[in-house]
Amino acid sequence: MNLKDLQNEWIKDFAQPMMIAGPCSAESEAQMLETARRIKETNAQVPVFRAGIWKPRTKPNGFEGVGVIGLNWLKKVKEEYGFKTATEVANAHHVFAALEADVDILWIGARSTVNPFTVQEIAQALRGTNKIVLVKNPVNPDLALWIGALERLLGQGITNLGVIHRGFSTYQKTKYRNNPNWQIALDFKSQFPNIPMLIDPSHICGNRTGLADITQEALNVGYQGAIIETHSNPDEAWSDASQQITPEVLAELIGNLKVRNTNL
Ligand code: PEP
Ligand code: MN
Repeated sequence: MNLKDLQNEWIKDFAQPMMIAGPCSAESEAQMLETARRIKETNAQVPVFRAGIWKPRTKPNGFEGVGVIGLNWLKKVKEEYGFKTATEVANAHHVFAALEADVDILWIGARSTVNPFTVQEIAQALRGTNKIVLVKNPVNPDLALWIGALERLLGQGITNLGVIHRGFSTYQKTKYRNNPNWQIALDFKSQFPNIPMLIDPSHICGNRTGLADITQEALNVGYQGAIIETHSNPDEAWSDASQQITPEVLAELIGNLKVRNTNL
């Protein structure tokens, strides 16, 4: 099958725009459950809870994720608050552990999308499942690598695919942590209009102030949703503290979005 022929009906199971929220990293059971509870209590339309369990940090010797114990916390979030769950996988071992723990959505991070060996390994580990897999753009502005990652997944029979636009690394100082380079994402979108595309304003902005504008801009050009880092106590977060927002601020952001054909 060809990527262009994919129908990607899976996105229709989610109200649109499809919102994913939760902390950059799972830190403790209490942090996970409090974040989930407070998102729920806002009544914002957020069907999916995200949390990184294995964290791809730029430098060694820092916090690199809580590991498999965090999968239990994701399970509790699902059981107690009814969220679907999502986490990043970066090797076959992660995939098997996440499948075992019944995580609903897996994503491939920007540092993994650049590596064909890694993507191939993940794709092969997923063979025979019908998981929803979201592929973040590679850190570098290379459309072919992004498409190639999707082709590797499709080659192993994974058909429930989507992409996340999280911006691209640049050595230049700009107001963004990762430059959105909208043209690359829009080129992707015009080549593969049936593949759902979500925006990740958190990793594009690297701060809290730009999130709403980037999200709105994405919806205006037809993105189907967003993944936004949300933490019960953002200032104290163990990773990406400067860009995370509270559940209450998230709800306000969602409430202010102007969307077409929505049930927000
Ligand atoms: C994340 O979502 O926390 C993350 C590490 O993202 P990225 O791969 O986009 O840097
Ligand atoms: Mn993060």
